[in-house]
Amino acid sequence: MQKERLIIIGSGPAGLTAALYTARANLEPLIITGDQLGGQISLTSEVENYPGFPDAITGPELVDLMQKQALKFGARIEYDYVSEVDFSSGPPFTLKTQNNKEYQADSIIITAGASPRRLGVPGEDEYIGRGVSYCGTCDGFFFRGKDVVVIGGGDSALEEGSFLTKYADRVRIIHRRDELRAGPVLIKRANHNPKISFIWNTVVDEVVGEDVVKGIRVKNIETGAAEELKTDGVFVFVGHYPNSTIFEGKLAMDEHGYLITDDHMQTNVPGIFAAGEIQDPMWKQIATSVGQGTMAAISCTRWFEALEDDLEPAAQA
Ligand code: NAP
Repeated sequence: MQKERLIIIGSGPAGLTAALYTARANLEPLIITGDQLGGQISLTSEVENYPGFPDAITGPELVDLMQKQALKFGARIEYDYVSEVDFSSGPPFTLKTQNNKEYQADSIIITAGASPRRLGVPGEDEYIGRGVSYCGTCDGFFFRGKDVVVIGGGDSALEEGSFLTKYADRVRIIHRRDELRAGPVLIKRANHNPKISFIWNTVVDEVVGEDVVKGIRVKNIETGAAEELKTDGVFVFVGHYPNSTIFEGKLAMDEHGYLITDDHMQTNVPGIFAAGEIQDPMWKQIATSVGQGTMAAISCTRWFEALEDDLEPAAQA
């Protein structure tokens, strides 16, 4: 059993920022990365709205810089995945990982993020990796000269749709309403892209194929008219769900699985904090995750100070 003062679960912008701040406060945080170092931004082509990078920066480059900065001040990193937690007593709390390691930690900051939501229609799971994708940056290259559809009407759908035109000859964005949720910059860019067109008020009923994706069956929700559209790729961007399954019954969460935190980013268990998309159903930006990671780190530092001063172990503002 490895004993740590602070473990940070997850390595997206919230986790890497919490690591930077707590490392500078001499808490020697150990980051357990999760499946993907950097979380969702490591799968993002270009980040144009994170302050300080007026010419944009790629997601992986930003992750690399954030990681370097945290490690420079003494954070440590473990490429592993937390699979089980025991918060019933403690601190210290107990964690188990996929690599069969067991840890005890006096405090934990949970920044395990969110994962892409699936459509939940027949054929979707069957054709993942064979035409169905949740990441344009990862898979766009395989659709050079091909036809793809993008499902969704938010920032991800429009941003990834625009990115996919680097490869695909045609990108049709299929949205269930006739009004986009995405921001005006991304809408304007998509409207000016001759490879992009929109199909409104339409939902996907099925992904069809033979070994690989050949098309989708769609339905217009206003007229009820159904048709099959031929396509080579189906890129799904219909939102995210928080990666909170392992905390069920152990931490307070809302009806959608987002962890509930107080003003100090502390969960209902003293000494356990959360930041980023696992507790944020609303803002979901790199900049807001960085801010929440900062808040969790400062609260955690104060929680340790209060413990050391033999005070009530609560995050002091
Ligand atoms: P989102 O904003 O939740 O949008 C999800 C989209 O999918 C919505 O248009 C929604 O339709 C649609 N949808 C949901 N369930 C569906 C279903 N079952 N079938 C068909 N369509 C469905 O998710 P997101 O685009 O991934 O963005 C998540 C967050 O990240 C947002 O806060 C966004 O601002 C942020 N983000 C920002 C940037 C950027 O600033 N460059 C880039 C990417 C993401 P309705 O509109 O009808 O609800």
